[in-house]
Amino acid sequence: MDLTGKVALVTGGAGGIGAATARRLAKLGAKVVIVDLDEAGAVRTAAELNGLAIAGDVTDPETMPAAVKQIEEELGRLDVVHLNAGLGGGQKGLDDALDVARYRRLVGVNVDHVVYGTCAAVPALRRAGGGQIVITASLAGLAAMPNDPLYTLTKHAVVGYARAAGAALAKDNITVTALCPGFVDTLLLGQAKEEFDAVAFPLLTPEDIAEALQSVLTDGNPGEAWIIQPGGQAGPYKFRGVP
Ligand code: NAD
Repeated sequence: MDLTGKVALVTGGAGGIGAATARRLAKLGAKVVIVDLDEAGAVRTAAELNGLAIAGDVTDPETMPAAVKQIEEELGRLDVVHLNAGLGGGQKGLDDALDVARYRRLVGVNVDHVVYGTCAAVPALRRAGGGQIVITASLAGLAAMPNDPLYTLTKHAVVGYARAAGAALAKDNITVTALCPGFVDTLLLGQAKEEFDAVAFPLLTPEDIAEALQSVLTDGNPGEAWIIQPGGQAGPYKFRGVP
């Protein structure tokens, strides 16, 4: 796959999965733009890749349109968008009192940002003659995590959105897909990391997701949700009985 001459935007690319996919997109030849709340981290990753860093909060409806405008002005086009920024766990169980501010923040990053990012990117991708949007969802977008119903809610939402937007935008030569990894060794795991390590649970690596991103960009069809094995081998989830 050769992305020479193409421009790719990665949200949440300051660290974790997004930094790995940004590195992969750069390795494939793309000019990479990182949008992240963590300005220092975004600048660090972008500098490593000779890319562009844009500091911003993706829950702000203005951030993604402004980023796309800046990208077209400075780099001339937009071809690939990895909507990856996300937050882990909301409340742990439904018996806990709902922390409304935390819940709204979770929905803001995991769901609203995907909508704002898609709406901002589509006109630019059309101007480029087509393009690809990949959303980092989660296995929690396909299966229930009983210990985290709110995270499950947000990730099911974006898998549904990818399926619908994928079908709607295919006519414009724009492919929308979702990546649905299980647990990945990043800061997002927080304290759970120690529990996984204690039982030698085989975590995915950020590089596995970068490998899956490359596969979905190469072979993904509109609206597909891809599951990922350790090592990065990935393929579309089969939604039983429904198109
Ligand atoms: P991470 O915490 O390492 O990285 C998340 C990045 O998003 C950070 O750089 C952070 O600064 C950025 N971010 C958070 N809120 C933001 C905001 N409001 N505006 C702009 N940037 C913001 O976590 P990660 O594991 O790399 O997560 C990336 C994505 O992968 C998320 O969508 C997450 O839900 C998903 N995911 C993670 C796992 C896992 O086990 N780590 C599993 C499945 C899916």
